[in-house]
Amino acid sequence: MGILRPLGDPMRSCTLCAGPLVGSSRTVACVCGLVLHERCAAEVLTCPGCGAPLRNRLV
Ligand SMILES: [Zn+2]
Ligand SMILES: [Zn+2]
Repeated sequence: MGILRPLGDPMRSCTLCAGPLVGSSRTVACVCGLVLHERCAAEVLTCPGCGAPLRNRLV
């Protein structure tokens, strides 16, 4: 994939694919505050913002 740019409002959009995070989607929240879709987090494995390992902690 490559280097990813955090969006201005990471709590509302997936940091990886920039898609909207809606209530019905499974999401993963990093300790730094970034939120990604569960499947997006599974692709990168580490947070694009802080580099911390991402696990599927939130569903
Ligand atoms: Zn996504
Ligand atoms: Zn992070």
